[in-house]
Amino acid sequence: MDISSNFDGGNIQVISKKSFDDIRLKIRKDTNSDFFQWFYFRLQGVEGYPCKIKIMNASGAFEPVGWKDFNAVASYDRLNWFRVPTSYDGQVLTIDHKPEYNSVFYAYFAPYSYEKHLDLVHASQLSSLCVAESIGNTVQGRDIDLLTIGYPGKDKKKIWVIARQHPGETMASWFIEGFLKRLLDQNDAVSVKVLQKAVFYVLPNVNVDGSILGNIRVNAAGINLNREWANPNRRGSPEVYYILKKMIETDVDLNLDIHGDEALPYNFVSSIEGIPGFNKRMESLQNAFFSAWIKINPDFQTKHGYGKNEPGKANLNICSKQIGHKFDCLSLTVEMPFKDNKDIPNPLTGWSPERSDRLGSSVIGVIQTIVDDLR
Ligand SMILES: [Zn+2]
Repeated sequence: MDISSNFDGGNIQVISKKSFDDIRLKIRKDTNSDFFQWFYFRLQGVEGYPCKIKIMNASGAFEPVGWKDFNAVASYDRLNWFRVPTSYDGQVLTIDHKPEYNSVFYAYFAPYSYEKHLDLVHASQLSSLCVAESIGNTVQGRDIDLLTIGYPGKDKKKIWVIARQHPGETMASWFIEGFLKRLLDQNDAVSVKVLQKAVFYVLPNVNVDGSILGNIRVNAAGINLNREWANPNRRGSPEVYYILKKMIETDVDLNLDIHGDEALPYNFVSSIEGIPGFNKRMESLQNAFFSAWIKINPDFQTKHGYGKNEPGKANLNICSKQIGHKFDCLSLTVEMPFKDNKDIPNPLTGWSPERSDRLGSSVIGVIQTIVDDLR
């Protein structure tokens, strides 16, 4: 039996592997940080054996509540990911699985590799609507890829969509894939119409270093990028520094920051009631956004979420709050589940790349309904 994680996004450490029903592992801490929760590893030599894979340090993870009612994903071909029975006793997370092939991958959610990210960026630029460019370098010297979509014009709204500040939230990449596919489809009247009125600035992966390193939450310097927006540091959080610089150059009329949530089995949005300049205009815009999305895609809902900030109490280090504050615009954190949408569950896949993709494409319909009223 072999266990490995030395590949893009991999994360696991072996404690012991005495027998198939007693495989003991632990999740490695994020780079220069104490956070951990993302896992992604390969198990070999196991065809037909009932395996019990125990993650011994599960209770020390970033959000241990995330293990409750959670089932890990597995794949034989890294294209199709399915859920496998998983249980949590308050200490140890145990995956029970009898693999049908000799080699199998397990993960916290369907991974999205750096190569796939580069493919997406470069496939997108083949559209005459899209320009791909790097706006700076990450801590480890990788490109920070920005896609500009549509033709800038004096009266065009500027819409920013960013993803993977938290690298372990891979559903955000699948969301962006669905979003881009539809936005670049010139046979889709909704996209054509929206692009007559807006230009999009899309960052499919803000934290490529953290993604490759197999982190849940931080970049290569150990920084949680989503706490850096009030005052980003070019050394520790260059990813945010360069994005904010570009936002100031282009301006922002709407900002969507795409995430995954460990705990809640729903899709929801964290809103900006708590920012200092929140007013009636912003409130009605936010409500219009919510009600349109609920109508367009029932995977979105507003019953379950983080709860609103009290007026003036928002944390302006967080991207959506800082951008809403700085640009006086609608700015939202979109959260998808690691587990499933409890209202419309799929026991085979749980929340999946496909559902994330459809949610991403559906938000373009929402933008169409509010684009004229943005800022
Ligand atoms: Zn997040």
